[in-house]
Amino acid sequence: MTLDEARALDRTDPLARFRDRFALPDGVIYLDGNSLGPLTHASRAAVADCTTRQWGDRLIRSWNEGWIDAPQRIGAKLAPLLGAHPHEVIAGDTTSANLFKALVAALRIDPKRRVIVSELGNFPTDLHIAEGAVACVPGAELRAVPRAQLADALGPDTAVLLLTHVHYKTAERFDMAAWTRAAHDAGALAVWDLSHSVGAVPLDLDGANADLAVGCTYKYLNGGPGAPAFLYVAERWQERLESPLSGWMGHAEPFSFTDRYQPGPGMKRWLVGTPPMLAMASLEAALDLWAEVEMATLATKSAQLFDILAAAGDALGLDCVTPRDPTLRGSHISFRHPHAYALAQALIARGVIGDFRDPDILRLGLTPLYLSHEDVWRAGEHLRGAIEAKEWQEARHQRRLAVT
Ligand SMILES: *Cc1c(COP(=O)(O)O)cnc(C)c1O
Repeated sequence: MTLDEARALDRTDPLARFRDRFALPDGVIYLDGNSLGPLTHASRAAVADCTTRQWGDRLIRSWNEGWIDAPQRIGAKLAPLLGAHPHEVIAGDTTSANLFKALVAALRIDPKRRVIVSELGNFPTDLHIAEGAVACVPGAELRAVPRAQLADALGPDTAVLLLTHVHYKTAERFDMAAWTRAAHDAGALAVWDLSHSVGAVPLDLDGANADLAVGCTYKYLNGGPGAPAFLYVAERWQERLESPLSGWMGHAEPFSFTDRYQPGPGMKRWLVGTPPMLAMASLEAALDLWAEVEMATLATKSAQLFDILAAAGDALGLDCVTPRDPTLRGSHISFRHPHAYALAQALIARGVIGDFRDPDILRLGLTPLYLSHEDVWRAGEHLRGAIEAKEWQEARHQRRLAVT
């Protein structure tokens, strides 16, 4: 692709109008929206209002003026992006904490089923939390196997198939409906981690007959650093599962101040403690933008952006580990490179912000709401420049930072 061709695509881009909603710094091509989505003007204003007016002026009265219902209200705004009903989603806690609740609850359904099946190389917290969850349920165990052995690992002892829908390194995507069916055929529940899927690819949890799902809102959804996560529980499970984190916000009547725990109805029982309102305000404002986004349009542009960088990588002889078929991937592209860390740092020094995933992956996020085709074309030129000049050799690019 040439620069002129990229610009021609930008002129007819139906998503171009969203760029102005974001407060992106000048001189930066941001290819890390899959890790921390950028600030929206709406979130900045919402946090200012939450601080100054709601907290500053209204003080504790704000709990009855919209705060206390925020987890449900934001859950309902997330639902269309997940292919869920509004009453099947709640916002709160972290993805890690929600996964713990989901896994322990699912392990307690049937004492004959004690095994969580998951994928080796899954995002670390998924396996770490699964380890913690099985330690809380007598006899339970984690069976983590390579992707090719997942189907064989399911059996009459399986309680849960835990999968991350889009892989954080390679962007490979599982067929949600097919793998949910495989779990159900084995008599197990399907629990999905959608951290790299929501806001990246079209989702249909209800259509896939999924059981539970969790995910982040600070990546493609731009909710803010450490923004509250979400939990989905299919309606048919809501009254049959119990959260192991029986906090007062999940109680049927928190303000009756009773000694005994009585789980609330529907998704309420999955709440734990007091919601973080500044973070909720940022998230809710960022989500309002998504009500205007057509996911099919987003997917089309994501594929166009992918093709630009894939072609740049091919011309350089780079090893692309992301599937070429857009239906088999999420919305980032990853290249394997022996000096991937230093290469990522060299790109950052050029104003192209992507990231590195240990041991050898250069990961570049493709977020159609604020990236133009020209931006991505220019990123490809920087990639070429950095590689041709062997910029990874520079000592300053090799110093390992805490967050990669
Ligand atoms: C980013 C990510 C997480 C992060 O979990 P936190 O609890 O928010 O730290 C979890 N799972 C996957 C698959 C992720 O990509």
